[in-house]
Amino acid sequence: MSNTIKYPFLDLATVNAPFIDAIHEATSRVINSGYYVGGPEVVQFEQKLADATGCRYAVGVSNGLDAIRLIFHAYIQLGRLRPGDEVIVPANTYIASILAVIDAGLAPVFVEPDIATLNLDTARLSEAITPRTRAILTVHLYGRTCYDATMADLAKRHNLLIVEDNAQAIGARDYRGKRTGALGDAGAFSFYPTKNIGALGDAGAVTTDDPDLANAVRALSNYGSDRKYHNIYLGYNCRLDPIQAAIVALKLPYIDSENAIRADVAKVYNDNISNPLIIKPQYSADGTTVWHQYVILANNRDRLRQYLLDHGVATDVHYPTAPHHQPCMAAYANLHLPVAERIAAQAVSLPISRCTSTADAADIARIINSWTDD
Ligand SMILES: *Cc1c(COP(=O)(O)O)cnc(C)c1O
Repeated sequence: MSNTIKYPFLDLATVNAPFIDAIHEATSRVINSGYYVGGPEVVQFEQKLADATGCRYAVGVSNGLDAIRLIFHAYIQLGRLRPGDEVIVPANTYIASILAVIDAGLAPVFVEPDIATLNLDTARLSEAITPRTRAILTVHLYGRTCYDATMADLAKRHNLLIVEDNAQAIGARDYRGKRTGALGDAGAFSFYPTKNIGALGDAGAVTTDDPDLANAVRALSNYGSDRKYHNIYLGYNCRLDPIQAAIVALKLPYIDSENAIRADVAKVYNDNISNPLIIKPQYSADGTTVWHQYVILANNRDRLRQYLLDHGVATDVHYPTAPHHQPCMAAYANLHLPVAERIAAQAVSLPISRCTSTADAADIARIINSWTDD
């Protein structure tokens, strides 16, 4: 037993190694271009992301949180949402999803996850809808698409906007084969370095087919300006850095091949983990999950993590505290959300990236199968 890490959780230098020559070329190109805010690299990135997603418009922005914030602020500016309107959010998500809703003056309504998918349970959607509900923020958490006919029908029937938090699921598809980011009214992307397609810093984007929304997001991200020195909104500075735009753009052709690396590891975990103390994530190979994380559940999560560490396996937890239990969310602390709380207590993320070979994954599965929790 030792704490030497034989199976690292993630190493971003390894993740970027196959792209490193292209990254040097792209960054030099931007440096030599003389365009350091906006410019042709951002325009090209936006076109490539729109094409990859199957949306009419993509707007590059500073990061994933700002992408979601700008969508909600833009809907308010366009009169499609009003402060105080209710937005359905998943109770199990990264807190940024909910921060964006609150930042725009909207009221999050938490809906429990399905323990099988760890995503918002669409069977519980209808009971959460009130006369004040105006939107659903669906989060494709851990890379698993959270969109189905139930959600689409309810949104249509109640005239609700669907906003996708697609930070973790670039390249995923829904049950019909349509890409995430193109399923609802607007999609928010993050290219934070650990995402399936990552920048070398912060980066994000908004996708939509709605020209009014695209224009409002673009203006809001640039001081509320629709043309130079003409400000129609009280806006922000949330623009995409052209160096990051160039780096993400060169990776966009590899969305499917990068996701395939994760899918191969997920398959080995799924085929080989057989410990009755462990609940594996629902498995499918149909592209409806791109395995941003491979999250297992275990009663004694902390003991499992220590055991894995003692056997050289680094793990992580996404996320150890449910959003409504964070100190900043005191207004929601009394909510009873036992499924989300159970996931926060039991989740363990196994290594899944270019840093983990399928042979590593088989080793990790064998180590997990030997765990007896005594
Ligand atoms: C990463 C992430 C965000 C925030 O993206 P940033 O680019 O880090 O601001 C939002 N939602 C989810 C689900 C995320 O995983």
